[in-house]
Amino acid sequence: MSHVARDAARMWYNRGVEQVDENSVRAVVVLSGGQDSAICLALAVRRYGAARVAAITFRYGQRHALETRFARGLARHFGVTRHKVVSLGFYRHITTNALMDPSRRIARRKGSACPTTVVEGRNAFFLLAAAVWAKSLGATEVYTGVSEADYSGYPDCRAAFIRSQQRTIRLALDWPVRIVAPFLHKTKEQEWALADRLGVFELVRDHTLTCYNGIPGAGCGKCPACRLRNAGLKEYNAHRHEKHKV
Ligand code: ZN
Repeated sequence: MSHVARDAARMWYNRGVEQVDENSVRAVVVLSGGQDSAICLALAVRRYGAARVAAITFRYGQRHALETRFARGLARHFGVTRHKVVSLGFYRHITTNALMDPSRRIARRKGSACPTTVVEGRNAFFLLAAAVWAKSLGATEVYTGVSEADYSGYPDCRAAFIRSQQRTIRLALDWPVRIVAPFLHKTKEQEWALADRLGVFELVRDHTLTCYNGIPGAGCGKCPACRLRNAGLKEYNAHRHEKHKV
């Protein structure tokens, strides 16, 4: 955020609060324990330092409580002590999908835009809840790892949704929140390249959980999440090895 924008944010904030601590939290990262959110956390910590970053993990009845463990491990690794695991327990009462119901097969149905793993509206809830916490911490940025380029047909990973949700949240909270989505227009290959530049390539490759079948690192190799992740990694590795040979 530019100085001008930050000053404007501060003035806005100061309407109701006497003083803003210079060391206050700047960003809340939505941290799932997967590849995308791990790189988001690395980016935010690089930008602001661990003490000014907070992370939030949501439990919404997904199959793998293991995700929470990976999220905790990542927060610990980066020294982010403000990490909350928050339950969205109502989710299972209003919808279902293959991530939440083990009896449903993880697949992309023929003719369907989305795989059976879509959790309807998930990012809308995540971003709003993260922004509410951000406001209470005095932070104006919310990081999310959503990607339109590789979005698997999930409607709440599109740029149009992110723009709209930012506007909605600003109106709902009267708070100048900015949704930071660094991978919105990036492919998985570009994400791996960024992880490498940030010095977290091995960490992300080995200590995140993206697989829908709950297998860490390279995963099962068969589910849609693994296919996307591993294809991007393969493409990046091809260049990486060439680069290292030179
Ligand atoms: Zn998998």
